[in-house]
Amino acid sequence: MELKETIEKTFAERFGEKGTLYASAGRINLIGEHTDYNGGFVFPGAIDKVIMADIRPNGTDRVRVYSIDIDDYAEFGLTEADAPSQSWARYIFGVCREVIKRGGKVEGFDAVFAGNVPLGAGLSSSAALESCFAFALNDLFNDNSIDKFELARIGQSTEHNYCGVNCGIMDQFASVFGKKDHLMRLDCRSMEYEYFPFHPEGYSLVLVDSAVKHELADSPYNKRRQSCERVAKRLGIDTLRDATMEDLDAIRTDITAEDYFRAKYVIEEKQRVLDVCDALVAGDYDTVGRCMYETHRGLSKDYEVSCEELDFLNDLARDCGVTGSRIMGGGFGGCTINLVKNELLPEFTARARADFKARYGHEPKIYEVIISDGARRVE
Ligand code: ADP
Ligand code: MG
Repeated sequence: MELKETIEKTFAERFGEKGTLYASAGRINLIGEHTDYNGGFVFPGAIDKVIMADIRPNGTDRVRVYSIDIDDYAEFGLTEADAPSQSWARYIFGVCREVIKRGGKVEGFDAVFAGNVPLGAGLSSSAALESCFAFALNDLFNDNSIDKFELARIGQSTEHNYCGVNCGIMDQFASVFGKKDHLMRLDCRSMEYEYFPFHPEGYSLVLVDSAVKHELADSPYNKRRQSCERVAKRLGIDTLRDATMEDLDAIRTDITAEDYFRAKYVIEEKQRVLDVCDALVAGDYDTVGRCMYETHRGLSKDYEVSCEELDFLNDLARDCGVTGSRIMGGGFGGCTINLVKNELLPEFTARARADFKARYGHEPKIYEVIISDGARRVE
């Protein structure tokens, strides 16, 4: 049965009658990694993997919600003291609370939801869940008066305040604003965004999830941020967004080699996002792919956030003749995103499975994705 039918059937069994269906999507980021906190650009798009929810106001002040995938039920009120214990339900409770905190209206409702965004694979199932419910509450109770950026911020604040995840805005932005056949360049300094056409005819976008996560003791993420901040400060600017390679080279002898290479990566990555946008407008997917490999090299050698498994997958992609491949996400594990000519797809995925398993003892998880719409009402 399709997702939609399963959800509608389950809703009818649990709550009777029919609700209204909403969906939102997971996301990929084609290029622009570790750029958000440096005031640079990210370039995400929503994908054809979604969370879908059937929702109906129930005339009470309580929320009753059933998760099909986890096979668990939660019921909670709408005041701060009512937080549910289940972690999955806290995403929904958080969204309700963040709408209310902004002066929006939320009343009790019944909901059933399910999805096919893989959990914890770097495709942001949590943002899909948040933006699905944020979009729904806006439509059901607020006459769609909350603007889309605020819907994204509601999801982000939910992560911060109810789920203990100190994330940026990209995932929720992509999930809310996503549009079929388009990627979005988000300027993380001004929050301006622009849609770019993405028609990779003859290519597939393939995520290869290494399913490893290296927990590192000395918080490498914060160390990277500190390097970037130190260099920006030394240059007398707010963020590396405003730095050029000439600026950086001019102070090279005044800073540590480590800080130099961290900043170099960030400055080059900012330019690469712009180059990829130009290439997409020209329909030049070879250049897009080349930039992806350059990003991987930068993340691996200059920013040093890769790991053996991800470098292995990147080398394997190159070896198979894959057009573009890079780490997607923060690094130290997780997945690579690959732009693969369709005729290479069977060989690439077979080798990624077999060679990776031979080396690391388990198969990576492989997901093909299509750039699709984000948050929406499902007719
Ligand atoms: P991701 O990288 O996929 O966003 P997170 O750990 O941030 O990973 O979010 C995953 C969490 O979101 C799950 O542990 C669960 O609480 C919630 N979630 C995501 N998808 C679903 C789903 N289909 N059903 C129930 N809960 C979900
Ligand atoms: Mg998440």
